[in-house]
Amino acid sequence: LMQLSIPLNFFGSMHREIKQGLVDLEAMFSLMREAPEVTDKPTAAKLAVDGGSVRFDNVLFHYDEERPILKGVSFEVPAGKTVAIVGPSGAGKSTISRLLFRFYDVSGGAITVDGQDIRDVQQLSLRQNIGMVPQDTVLFNDTLLYNIGYGRPSASREEIEDAARMAQISEFVKSLPNGFDTEVGERGLKLSGGEKQRVAIARTILKAPPILVLDEATSALDSHTEQEIQTALDQVSQNRTTLVIAHRLSTVIGADEIIVLEAGKIKERGRHADLLAQGGLYASMWDRQREASEAEERLRKAVEGD
Ligand code: ADP
Ligand code: MG
Repeated sequence: LMQLSIPLNFFGSMHREIKQGLVDLEAMFSLMREAPEVTDKPTAAKLAVDGGSVRFDNVLFHYDEERPILKGVSFEVPAGKTVAIVGPSGAGKSTISRLLFRFYDVSGGAITVDGQDIRDVQQLSLRQNIGMVPQDTVLFNDTLLYNIGYGRPSASREEIEDAARMAQISEFVKSLPNGFDTEVGERGLKLSGGEKQRVAIARTILKAPPILVLDEATSALDSHTEQEIQTALDQVSQNRTTLVIAHRLSTVIGADEIIVLEAGKIKERGRHADLLAQGGLYASMWDRQREASEAEERLRKAVEGD
């Protein structure tokens, strides 16, 4: 039996590598269709990460020539720090995360990681160093184990289960009849938005990248799920360079800098207390969200009858 288990494991991991190769190829092709200009320069070197500080230098960007999206955006996320981007929907927040991952090249200005222009490094090495938890996570038609393990294909089952625990998804997985071996995705179990996001967080915990990009999509989640996700996100962002796009302002109170983006421009920047004191856009967004959550709380109490 011992002799048999070695080749079986071997084929298991080979199967996984082949599948991952295909998945990456698919991702690559869809990217090529969307953005043919994003290619490695012949001289591109591997990104050398030392702390992973991120800089946007007067970044201009448009998807379509006639409609500018980012109009000169500059900021820095120093190594190990957290910068939050907030602002109305359509402001260009998710575009910033796509540019850092180099799904598209900037139309002007530059993005650097530890001083290296991301257009000058191998895309693969850039993406290996960034953990991205997007607004909408797409799962592979495979097991939960595979979907989490994808973050680091060499991880053991135990490491995958640990990551799931940290991402607050472990209890849910264990409640399923097939546990981590449950098939998910289009052809399997459909997960809710919050569950998918926690799978993505577990994947990222396993990948343990120096740079994190979190596009929080908590508006559709109930407050209990939101709190669980927040706990998971706080864990994973500790001591990592983190760029967080926040929809609920309560999640950015502790950020080292908050950037308020409106229509592709930085309108305000500073720490939470400074921005409140300024009494501008951030302060009014804060008031509006607080009123909304107080109303939600009153409604909940009325429904529960206490
Ligand atoms: P936010 O995350 O702040 O809500 P986004 O960065 O997603 O905003 O989008 C900024 C603007 O860019 C929006 O007006 C959006 O419609 C537009 N946009 C986003 N993706 C594309 C795309 N692939 N092609 C054209 N326009 C896009
Ligand atoms: Mg967005």
